[in-house]
Amino acid sequence: MRPDRSEAIILQSIPSRERDKLIVFLTPEKGKRKGWAYGARGLRNRFGAALEPLAKVELVFLEKESEEAVRIESASMIRSAFPAQQELARSLAATYIAESVETFVQADDPSELVYRLLDRIVEALLAGRPVEPIVAYAEVWILKLGGVFASIRHCAICQKPLERPLRCDIRGGFVCSGCAEPGVTLIANRVAELLGALLSTPVDAFAAMPIAADDLFELRALARDLRRYVLGHELKTHDLLQSVIRG
Ligand SMILES: [Zn+2]
Repeated sequence: MRPDRSEAIILQSIPSRERDKLIVFLTPEKGKRKGWAYGARGLRNRFGAALEPLAKVELVFLEKESEEAVRIESASMIRSAFPAQQELARSLAATYIAESVETFVQADDPSELVYRLLDRIVEALLAGRPVEPIVAYAEVWILKLGGVFASIRHCAICQKPLERPLRCDIRGGFVCSGCAEPGVTLIANRVAELLGALLSTPVDAFAAMPIAADDLFELRALARDLRRYVLGHELKTHDLLQSVIRG
């Protein structure tokens, strides 16, 4: 067995047995993986804070063909997730975004795009940009990269250019007036414009834009409905985050 080395972002850290942790992490080339960090629950363990969710690390791990989970040999910190955890909304947003990525990325999917997206989103959270636009950005992009909708310019069914208002069919994305069935959601033009801006702007620039609270609320509601339809349930951390952001 040759040790493998990869940059990774930690998605989840699950205490297991008395002294160990099961770690879910995302790599740019090998997608989402699981790995055992033996002894990681000890008080003065060799991993330190490097296995906290959303920490960016350099991992060395051993892979056995017969086993799904790798064995994590070492983790050295590239960027700590710690400063974000000093503020409740930011910390919950980080947990929620980690859960979203974990839910939508399949094991072994090549995930360079999702990895770069998550990396920039964490950077924006750590830089103190407004929390809710960052959360909206993550929600929409994770759906898009997860294949939940293909385009906001062309009809998902007949590929014709879409006119305004945008129509969203919860079962498969945006459709033209000819393909729309009863029950499609009409999207207000200002919300459609916000969606267009989100999809064409880097996260830090998007979070710095002046955005009307109502438009952001409606855009997030649209993303939430699409996500719930695909998953059949809500993400575990969603309601708590909402109560803190909106409370
Ligand atoms: Zn159509």
